[in-house]
Amino acid sequence: MRVVVIGCGAMGAPTAQTLAERGHDVTVLDRFGIPNLKGGSGFGLRSFRLSHHAREDVRLALRSLELYLDLQRRTGIEVYRRLGILHLGAVVDPMTAAFVAEGIPHRHLGAADVATIFPELRPRYGEAAMFQPDGGVNFCVPFLKACVKLAVARGAQVSPKERAVTLAPHANGVRVFTDRRRIDADVAVVTAGPWANELLTPIGMALPLQPGIVQVSYFRGAFGDDTTRPSLMERTRGAEEAMYGLIGPGQGYKMGFAVIDRTKFFQDLTARPLDPPQEQRLAERVREDFPGFHTGPFQTECGVITLTPDDHFIIDRKGPIVVGAGCMGHAFKFAPALGSYLADLAEDRTLPGEMDRFRLGRPGLAGTLSRHAKVPVSSS
Ligand SMILES: Cc1cc2nc3c(=O)[nH]c(=O)nc-3n(C[C@H](O)[C@H](O)[C@H](O)COP(=O)(O)OP(=O)(O)OC[C@H]3O[C@@H](n4cnc5c(N)ncnc54)[C@H](O)[C@@H]3O)c2cc1C
Repeated sequence: MRVVVIGCGAMGAPTAQTLAERGHDVTVLDRFGIPNLKGGSGFGLRSFRLSHHAREDVRLALRSLELYLDLQRRTGIEVYRRLGILHLGAVVDPMTAAFVAEGIPHRHLGAADVATIFPELRPRYGEAAMFQPDGGVNFCVPFLKACVKLAVARGAQVSPKERAVTLAPHANGVRVFTDRRRIDADVAVVTAGPWANELLTPIGMALPLQPGIVQVSYFRGAFGDDTTRPSLMERTRGAEEAMYGLIGPGQGYKMGFAVIDRTKFFQDLTARPLDPPQEQRLAERVREDFPGFHTGPFQTECGVITLTPDDHFIIDRKGPIVVGAGCMGHAFKFAPALGSYLADLAEDRTLPGEMDRFRLGRPGLAGTLSRHAKVPVSSS
Protein backbone atom coordinates (compact mmCIF):
# COMPACT_ATOMS: atom_id res chain seq x y z
CA MET A 1 0.00 0.00 0.00
CA ARG A 2 1.22 3.53 -0.81
CA VAL A 3 0.71 6.02 2.03
CA VAL A 4 1.55 9.70 2.30
CA VAL A 5 1.86 10.99 5.86
CA ILE A 6 1.34 14.76 5.92
CA GLY A 7 2.90 16.34 9.01
CA CYS A 8 5.68 14.68 10.99
CA GLY A 9 4.96 15.76 14.56
CA ALA A 10 3.97 13.62 17.54
CA MET A 11 1.10 12.02 15.63
CA GLY A 12 2.63 11.70 12.15
CA ALA A 13 6.11 10.42 13.04
CA PRO A 14 5.01 7.21 14.84
CA THR A 15 2.34 6.62 12.17
CA ALA A 16 4.98 6.74 9.45
CA GLN A 17 7.27 4.49 11.47
CA THR A 18 4.57 1.91 12.12
CA LEU A 19 3.41 1.82 8.50
CA ALA A 20 6.97 1.53 7.16
CA GLU A 21 7.69 -1.28 9.60
CA ARG A 22 4.56 -3.06 8.46
CA GLY A 23 6.00 -3.09 4.96
CA HIS A 24 4.11 -0.25 3.30
CA ASP A 25 5.46 2.25 0.80
CA VAL A 26 5.54 5.41 2.93
CA THR A 27 6.23 9.02 1.97
CA VAL A 28 6.47 11.54 4.82
CA LEU A 29 6.12 15.28 4.25
CA ASP A 30 6.56 18.16 6.64
CA ARG A 31 6.25 21.72 5.47
CA PHE A 32 8.45 23.25 8.19
CA GLY A 33 11.11 20.53 8.64
CA ILE A 34 11.67 17.60 11.01
CA PRO A 35 11.81 18.69 13.75
CA ASN A 36 10.53 22.26 13.57
CA LEU A 37 9.60 24.94 16.08
CA LYS A 38 6.37 25.97 14.39
CA GLY A 39 4.32 22.86 15.16
CA GLY A 40 3.56 21.55 18.63
CA SER A 41 6.15 18.77 18.82
CA GLY A 42 9.52 20.15 17.97
CA PHE A 43 11.08 21.43 21.15
CA GLY A 44 11.86 20.50 24.71
CA LEU A 45 10.12 17.94 26.84
CA ARG A 46 6.63 16.78 27.59
CA SER A 47 5.14 15.36 30.73
CA PHE A 48 4.32 11.66 30.61
CA ARG A 49 1.75 10.21 32.97
CA LEU A 50 -0.66 7.33 33.33
CA SER A 51 -2.83 9.62 35.45
CA HIS A 52 -6.19 10.18 33.82
CA HIS A 53 -9.76 10.26 35.03
CA ALA A 54 -11.03 7.89 32.36
CA ARG A 55 -9.85 4.30 32.56
CA GLU A 56 -9.60 4.06 28.76
CA ASP A 57 -7.12 6.96 28.84
CA VAL A 58 -5.07 5.13 31.47
CA ARG A 59 -5.00 2.11 29.18
CA LEU A 60 -4.06 4.25 26.18
CA ALA A 61 -1.18 5.73 28.17
CA LEU A 62 -0.06 2.24 29.23
CA ARG A 63 0.01 1.11 25.63
CA SER A 64 1.95 4.24 24.76
CA LEU A 65 4.47 3.57 27.51
CA GLU A 66 5.09 0.06 26.17
CA LEU A 67 5.71 1.51 22.71
CA TYR A 68 7.97 4.28 24.05
CA LEU A 69 10.08 1.66 25.83
CA ASP A 70 10.20 -0.50 22.73
CA LEU A 71 11.31 2.45 20.60
CA GLN A 72 13.97 3.34 23.15
CA ARG A 73 15.26 -0.22 23.25
CA ARG A 74 15.40 -0.60 19.50
CA THR A 75 16.99 2.75 18.65
CA GLY A 76 19.12 3.42 21.72
CA ILE A 77 17.61 6.93 21.74
CA GLU A 78 16.20 8.17 25.04
CA VAL A 79 12.58 9.11 24.40
CA TYR A 80 11.19 8.62 27.92
CA ARG A 81 12.66 9.02 31.40
CA ARG A 82 10.93 7.44 34.37
CA LEU A 83 10.95 10.03 37.15
CA GLY A 84 7.50 9.46 38.61
CA ILE A 85 4.68 11.92 38.97
CA LEU A 86 3.50 13.63 42.12
CA HIS A 87 -0.23 14.32 42.44
CA LEU A 88 -1.33 16.97 44.90
CA GLY A 89 -4.72 18.09 46.18
CA ALA A 90 -8.08 17.43 44.53
CA VAL A 91 -6.57 15.30 41.79
CA VAL A 92 -5.44 12.58 44.19
CA ASP A 93 -8.79 10.85 44.73
CA PRO A 94 -9.87 10.48 41.09
CA MET A 95 -6.39 9.40 39.97
CA THR A 96 -6.19 6.90 42.81
CA ALA A 97 -9.56 5.47 41.79
CA ALA A 98 -8.40 5.06 38.18
CA PHE A 99 -5.12 3.46 39.29
CA VAL A 100 -6.85 1.05 41.64
CA ALA A 101 -9.31 0.07 38.89
CA GLU A 102 -6.46 -0.58 36.44
CA GLY A 103 -4.04 -2.15 38.92
CA ILE A 104 -1.45 0.62 38.53
CA PRO A 105 1.10 0.86 41.35
CA HIS A 106 1.02 4.09 43.35
CA ARG A 107 1.57 5.23 46.91
CA HIS A 108 0.12 7.93 49.14
CA LEU A 109 2.56 10.33 50.74
CA GLY A 110 2.70 12.42 53.87
CA ALA A 111 4.10 15.94 53.91
CA ALA A 112 7.54 14.72 54.99
CA ASP A 113 7.76 12.33 52.00
CA VAL A 114 6.69 15.13 49.65
CA ALA A 115 9.43 17.36 51.00
CA THR A 116 11.95 14.59 50.43
CA ILE A 117 11.12 13.88 46.80
CA PHE A 118 10.38 17.51 45.89
CA PRO A 119 12.40 19.79 48.22
CA GLU A 120 11.53 22.97 46.26
CA LEU A 121 7.86 22.50 47.09
CA ARG A 122 6.30 23.66 50.37
CA PRO A 123 4.11 20.73 51.45
CA ARG A 124 0.98 21.48 53.40
CA TYR A 125 0.21 19.20 56.28
CA GLY A 126 -2.96 17.21 55.71
CA GLU A 127 -3.00 17.83 51.99
CA ALA A 128 -3.55 14.74 49.83
CA ALA A 129 -0.43 13.62 47.96
CA MET A 130 0.17 10.54 45.84
CA PHE A 131 3.11 9.29 43.77
CA GLN A 132 3.01 7.11 40.67
CA PRO A 133 6.42 5.85 39.54
CA ASP A 134 5.78 5.48 35.78
CA GLY A 135 5.22 9.21 35.25
CA GLY A 136 8.11 11.20 33.87
CA VAL A 137 9.12 12.98 30.71
CA ASN A 138 9.23 12.44 26.97
CA PHE A 139 11.97 14.01 24.87
CA CYS A 140 10.37 15.60 21.80
CA VAL A 141 13.12 15.84 19.21
CA PRO A 142 14.71 12.46 20.05
CA PHE A 143 11.25 10.88 19.73
CA LEU A 144 10.69 12.31 16.25
CA LYS A 145 14.22 11.33 15.23
CA ALA A 146 13.83 7.78 16.56
CA CYS A 147 10.59 7.28 14.62
CA VAL A 148 12.06 8.70 11.43
CA LYS A 149 15.20 6.59 11.84
CA LEU A 150 13.18 3.38 11.97
CA ALA A 151 10.89 4.51 9.15
CA VAL A 152 13.85 5.31 6.90
CA ALA A 153 15.49 2.01 7.79
CA ARG A 154 12.40 0.34 6.35
CA GLY A 155 12.46 2.37 3.16
CA ALA A 156 10.26 5.39 3.96
CA GLN A 157 10.91 8.46 1.83
CA VAL A 158 11.13 11.42 4.17
CA SER A 159 10.83 14.90 2.72
CA PRO A 160 11.21 17.70 5.25
CA LYS A 161 10.32 21.17 4.00
CA GLU A 162 7.78 19.89 1.50
CA ARG A 163 4.25 21.15 1.88
CA ALA A 164 1.13 19.28 0.85
CA VAL A 165 -1.06 21.86 -0.83
CA THR A 166 -4.14 19.99 -2.05
CA LEU A 167 -5.70 16.58 -1.64
CA ALA A 168 -7.73 15.01 -4.42
CA PRO A 169 -9.43 11.84 -3.14
CA HIS A 170 -10.85 9.53 -5.83
CA ALA A 171 -12.34 6.06 -6.11
CA ASN A 172 -8.97 4.27 -5.97
CA GLY A 173 -7.02 6.42 -3.57
CA VAL A 174 -5.83 9.98 -3.29
CA ARG A 175 -3.63 12.32 -5.28
CA VAL A 176 -1.55 14.68 -3.15
CA PHE A 177 -0.31 17.87 -4.76
CA THR A 178 2.67 19.34 -2.95
CA ASP A 179 4.56 22.56 -3.51
CA ARG A 180 6.84 20.65 -5.87
CA ARG A 181 5.20 17.47 -7.23
CA ARG A 182 2.19 15.23 -7.17
CA ILE A 183 2.09 11.92 -5.34
CA ASP A 184 -0.42 9.15 -5.98
CA ALA A 185 -1.24 7.04 -2.96
CA ASP A 186 -3.84 4.63 -1.64
CA VAL A 187 -4.18 6.60 1.58
CA ALA A 188 -3.19 10.04 2.89
CA VAL A 189 -2.73 10.43 6.65
CA VAL A 190 -3.35 14.06 7.66
CA THR A 191 -1.48 14.75 10.89
CA ALA A 192 -0.95 18.43 10.18
CA GLY A 193 -1.67 19.80 13.67
CA PRO A 194 -3.38 23.21 13.66
CA TRP A 195 -3.06 23.38 9.85
CA ALA A 196 -5.20 20.29 9.17
CA ASN A 197 -8.19 22.23 7.90
CA GLU A 198 -6.16 23.89 5.15
CA LEU A 199 -6.18 20.46 3.52
CA LEU A 200 -9.47 19.08 4.82
CA THR A 201 -11.88 21.98 4.24
CA PRO A 202 -11.55 21.98 0.43
CA ILE A 203 -12.47 18.26 0.31
CA GLY A 204 -15.55 18.69 2.50
CA MET A 205 -13.97 17.35 5.70
CA ALA A 206 -13.64 20.58 7.71
CA LEU A 207 -13.09 19.72 11.38
CA PRO A 208 -14.21 21.81 14.37
CA LEU A 209 -10.65 22.59 15.44
CA GLN A 210 -9.56 25.61 17.41
CA PRO A 211 -5.83 26.21 17.06
CA GLY A 212 -4.01 28.40 19.52
CA ILE A 213 -1.08 28.92 21.81
CA VAL A 214 -0.13 27.63 25.28
CA GLN A 215 2.59 29.06 27.47
CA VAL A 216 5.01 27.50 29.94
CA SER A 217 7.86 28.89 32.05
CA TYR A 218 11.10 27.43 33.40
CA PHE A 219 12.29 27.85 36.99
CA ARG A 220 15.67 27.03 38.46
CA GLY A 221 15.95 25.26 41.80
CA ALA A 222 18.00 26.71 44.61
CA PHE A 223 19.17 23.30 45.82
CA GLY A 224 21.56 22.39 43.03
CA ASP A 225 20.89 19.19 41.14
CA ASP A 226 17.17 18.90 40.55
CA THR A 227 17.30 16.48 37.65
CA THR A 228 15.45 13.72 39.48
CA ARG A 229 12.36 15.73 40.37
CA PRO A 230 9.12 13.99 39.47
CA SER A 231 6.54 15.43 37.13
CA LEU A 232 3.71 17.23 38.85
CA MET A 233 -0.09 17.30 38.64
CA GLU A 234 -1.27 19.90 41.09
CA ARG A 235 -4.80 20.84 42.19
CA THR A 236 -4.44 22.45 45.60
CA ARG A 237 -6.45 25.56 44.79
CA GLY A 238 -9.41 26.01 42.44
CA ALA A 239 -9.49 24.48 38.97
CA GLU A 240 -8.42 27.84 37.51
CA GLU A 241 -5.13 27.61 39.37
CA ALA A 242 -4.37 23.99 38.46
CA MET A 243 -0.75 23.50 37.49
CA TYR A 244 1.45 20.91 35.88
CA GLY A 245 5.20 20.60 35.85
CA LEU A 246 8.13 18.53 34.71
CA ILE A 247 11.86 18.62 34.88
CA GLY A 248 13.92 19.41 31.82
CA PRO A 249 17.17 17.76 32.85
CA GLY A 250 19.78 20.51 32.72
CA GLN A 251 17.11 23.04 31.71
CA GLY A 252 15.24 23.73 34.92
CA TYR A 253 11.74 22.86 36.07
CA LYS A 254 9.03 23.67 33.56
CA MET A 255 5.61 24.71 34.82
CA GLY A 256 2.38 25.92 33.35
CA PHE A 257 -1.25 26.37 34.24
CA ALA A 258 -3.17 23.25 33.31
CA VAL A 259 -6.11 25.16 31.95
CA ILE A 260 -6.38 27.42 28.98
CA ASP A 261 -8.87 30.14 28.39
CA ARG A 262 -10.49 29.60 25.02
CA THR A 263 -11.69 33.17 24.98
CA LYS A 264 -8.10 34.40 25.11
CA PHE A 265 -6.74 31.69 22.86
CA PHE A 266 -4.48 33.47 20.43
CA GLN A 267 -5.04 32.21 16.92
CA ASP A 268 -2.30 33.81 14.89
CA LEU A 269 0.04 30.84 14.72
CA THR A 270 2.91 32.81 13.28
CA ALA A 271 3.28 35.68 15.73
CA ARG A 272 3.38 33.80 19.07
CA PRO A 273 3.33 36.70 21.53
CA LEU A 274 4.09 35.80 25.12
CA ASP A 275 1.45 36.62 27.72
CA PRO A 276 3.29 38.57 30.47
CA PRO A 277 0.30 38.69 32.91
CA GLN A 278 0.06 34.90 32.75
CA GLU A 279 3.80 34.59 33.33
CA GLN A 280 3.47 36.92 36.29
CA ARG A 281 0.56 34.97 37.76
CA LEU A 282 2.54 31.75 37.44
CA ALA A 283 5.60 33.33 39.03
CA GLU A 284 3.48 34.43 42.01
CA ARG A 285 2.10 30.93 42.46
CA VAL A 286 5.58 29.46 42.28
CA ARG A 287 6.87 31.98 44.81
CA GLU A 288 4.16 30.99 47.29
CA ASP A 289 4.10 27.23 46.82
CA PHE A 290 7.58 26.40 45.52
CA PRO A 291 9.89 28.56 47.62
CA GLY A 292 12.85 26.38 46.62
CA PHE A 293 12.79 27.76 43.09
CA HIS A 294 14.55 31.02 42.33
CA THR A 295 12.10 33.89 42.04
CA GLY A 296 10.80 34.47 38.56
CA PRO A 297 11.12 32.24 35.53
CA PHE A 298 14.36 32.38 33.58
CA GLN A 299 12.59 31.45 30.37
CA THR A 300 9.05 31.45 29.05
CA GLU A 301 7.96 29.88 25.81
CA CYS A 302 4.79 29.11 23.96
CA GLY A 303 3.73 26.62 21.35
CA VAL A 304 0.72 25.63 19.29
CA ILE A 305 -1.98 23.18 20.23
CA THR A 306 -5.40 22.42 18.76
CA LEU A 307 -8.64 22.09 20.70
CA THR A 308 -11.86 20.25 19.85
CA PRO A 309 -15.38 21.02 21.19
CA ASP A 310 -15.53 17.92 23.43
CA ASP A 311 -11.86 17.92 24.43
CA HIS A 312 -11.11 14.59 22.72
CA PHE A 313 -8.71 13.85 19.87
CA ILE A 314 -9.93 13.14 16.35
CA ILE A 315 -8.61 9.80 15.11
CA ASP A 316 -10.59 8.39 12.21
CA ARG A 317 -10.80 7.64 8.51
CA LYS A 318 -13.07 8.78 5.71
CA GLY A 319 -12.47 7.16 2.32
CA PRO A 320 -8.75 7.34 1.55
CA ILE A 321 -8.15 10.08 4.16
CA VAL A 322 -7.00 9.20 7.69
CA VAL A 323 -7.07 12.05 10.21
CA GLY A 324 -5.10 12.50 13.44
CA ALA A 325 -5.99 15.91 14.84
CA GLY A 326 -7.16 17.92 17.85
CA CYS A 327 -4.17 17.25 20.11
CA MET A 328 -5.83 19.03 23.08
CA GLY A 329 -2.40 19.99 24.38
CA HIS A 330 -1.72 16.50 25.70
CA ALA A 331 -1.12 14.18 22.76
CA PHE A 332 2.60 13.66 23.23
CA LYS A 333 2.24 11.14 26.02
CA PHE A 334 -0.09 9.09 23.81
CA ALA A 335 1.86 9.60 20.59
CA PRO A 336 3.17 6.09 19.88
CA ALA A 337 -0.22 4.54 20.67
CA LEU A 338 -2.06 7.07 18.51
CA GLY A 339 0.45 6.41 15.73
CA SER A 340 -0.25 2.69 15.88
CA TYR A 341 -4.00 3.29 15.68
CA LEU A 342 -3.60 5.74 12.80
CA ALA A 343 -1.56 3.06 11.02
CA ASP A 344 -4.38 0.56 11.68
CA LEU A 345 -6.85 2.98 10.11
CA ALA A 346 -4.60 3.42 7.08
CA GLU A 347 -4.71 -0.37 6.71
CA ASP A 348 -8.50 -0.18 6.98
CA ARG A 349 -8.61 -2.11 10.24
CA THR A 350 -11.35 -1.57 12.78
CA LEU A 351 -10.19 0.10 15.96
CA PRO A 352 -11.16 -1.15 19.43
CA GLY A 353 -14.43 0.24 20.78
CA GLU A 354 -12.51 2.44 23.24
CA MET A 355 -11.30 4.50 20.29
CA ASP A 356 -14.88 5.41 19.31
CA ARG A 357 -14.64 8.49 21.48
CA PHE A 358 -12.21 9.89 18.90
CA ARG A 359 -14.38 9.28 15.82
CA LEU A 360 -15.33 11.91 13.27
CA GLY A 361 -19.10 11.49 13.48
CA ARG A 362 -19.46 11.64 17.27
CA PRO A 363 -22.06 14.03 18.69
CA GLY A 364 -19.47 15.85 20.81
CA LEU A 365 -17.84 17.33 17.72
CA ALA A 366 -21.06 19.13 16.84
CA GLY A 367 -20.75 21.36 19.93
CA THR A 368 -19.61 24.90 19.59
CA LEU A 369 -15.93 25.58 19.98
CA SER A 370 -16.26 28.00 22.82
CA ARG A 371 -18.41 25.71 24.95
CA HIS A 372 -16.02 26.10 27.86
CA ALA A 373 -14.17 29.29 28.44
CA LYS A 374 -11.59 27.28 30.35
CA VAL A 375 -10.51 23.81 29.38
CA PRO A 376 -8.07 21.49 31.04
CA VAL A 377 -4.93 21.15 29.06
CA SER A 378 -2.04 18.76 29.43
CA SER A 379 -3.21 17.61 32.85
CA SER A 380 -6.82 16.85 32.07
C1 LIG B 1 4.11 24.30 25.32
C2 LIG B 1 3.48 22.95 25.17
C3 LIG B 1 3.50 22.07 26.23
C4 LIG B 1 2.93 20.79 26.10
N1 LIG B 1 3.00 19.92 27.14
C5 LIG B 1 2.59 18.64 26.94
C6 LIG B 1 2.80 17.66 27.96
O1 LIG B 1 3.37 17.96 29.00
N2 LIG B 1 2.39 16.39 27.71
C7 LIG B 1 1.79 16.02 26.53
O2 LIG B 1 1.45 14.85 26.36
N3 LIG B 1 1.58 16.93 25.55
C8 LIG B 1 1.96 18.23 25.74
N4 LIG B 1 1.78 19.15 24.75
C9 LIG B 1 1.02 18.78 23.57
C10 LIG B 1 1.79 17.99 22.53
O3 LIG B 1 3.09 18.51 22.38
C11 LIG B 1 0.99 18.06 21.25
O4 LIG B 1 -0.27 17.50 21.52
C12 LIG B 1 1.62 17.31 20.11
O5 LIG B 1 2.98 17.61 19.99
C13 LIG B 1 0.87 17.66 18.81
O6 LIG B 1 1.36 16.85 17.79
P1 LIG B 1 0.68 16.85 16.35
O7 LIG B 1 1.44 15.87 15.54
O8 LIG B 1 -0.79 16.70 16.46
O9 LIG B 1 0.88 18.34 15.78
P2 LIG B 1 2.21 19.14 15.41
O10 LIG B 1 3.31 18.80 16.31
O11 LIG B 1 1.83 20.58 15.32
O12 LIG B 1 2.61 18.58 13.99
C14 LIG B 1 1.98 18.96 12.81
C15 LIG B 1 3.04 18.98 11.72
O13 LIG B 1 2.39 19.09 10.48
C16 LIG B 1 3.19 19.87 9.64
N5 LIG B 1 2.32 20.38 8.57
C17 LIG B 1 1.26 21.19 8.72
N6 LIG B 1 0.65 21.40 7.54
C18 LIG B 1 1.37 20.70 6.63
C19 LIG B 1 1.25 20.56 5.19
N7 LIG B 1 0.28 21.15 4.51
N8 LIG B 1 2.17 19.79 4.55
C20 LIG B 1 3.17 19.19 5.25
N9 LIG B 1 3.32 19.29 6.59
C21 LIG B 1 2.42 20.05 7.27
C22 LIG B 1 3.75 20.94 10.56
O14 LIG B 1 4.94 21.49 10.03
C23 LIG B 1 3.98 20.16 11.85
O15 LIG B 1 5.32 19.70 11.95
C24 LIG B 1 2.32 20.42 24.87
C25 LIG B 1 2.30 21.32 23.80
C26 LIG B 1 2.88 22.58 23.94
C27 LIG B 1 2.86 23.51 22.77
